[in-house]
Amino acid sequence: MEYVFEPHVRPQVSVVGSASAFPVRRIFCVGRNYADHVKEMGQDPERHPPFFFSKPADAIVATGSSIAYPTLTEECHHEIELVVAIGKTANAVSVERANDHIFGYAVGIDLTRRDLQINAMRAGMPWDFGKSFDNSAPCAPIHLISDTGVLEDARIWLEVNGQIRQDGNIRDLIWNIPELLSILSHGIVLQPGDLVYTGTPAGVGSVVRSDVLKGGVANLTPIEITII
Ligand code: MN
Repeated sequence: MEYVFEPHVRPQVSVVGSASAFPVRRIFCVGRNYADHVKEMGQDPERHPPFFFSKPADAIVATGSSIAYPTLTEECHHEIELVVAIGKTANAVSVERANDHIFGYAVGIDLTRRDLQINAMRAGMPWDFGKSFDNSAPCAPIHLISDTGVLEDARIWLEVNGQIRQDGNIRDLIWNIPELLSILSHGIVLQPGDLVYTGTPAGVGSVVRSDVLKGGVANLTPIEITII
């Protein structure tokens, strides 16, 4: 059947070393997954089961982009994250087999309207609007896992205007990537095209207009975004 209007173009992320792009299906994010960040948010850093939230696929923004300061907020925070790109359907996979479903890795930023998120949390309301908004998921090009190998020990960092703000290591994830993918795949069926933002280390903070955010994970292509 014809569509009533031209369907939107599927969001995509480029793939290092390939002329073809990764078509983004869904974006899942993990909350509170580095103990030092959990503490800075005033939460209990003990190992609780991970929880997940989503962003719209079209929140993806390519590296090198400028983003308008988001509406409704006076406290837009940066969260640098390792992003896992799913290449194979994962339905209730075991921790041992979870990495088999990874297409590759990328560097992303989980932009957060912290004031909206915290107000909603305190009111016992859903905090979607603090996390899911236009341009809230910058993502650098994806590196194939066949090129990088499995990432387990890698520095993750973010600087604002050349000053380091976040500096951690993915080995400090409370729930590591195979565990996250296994747990997530028991709640929903992960599909090729899904992206999983795996959480942020300590040092999150506010951005203002004209800030340049640059972040990386080990040797992956860095993400660089300007807030305007
Ligand atoms: Mn996050």
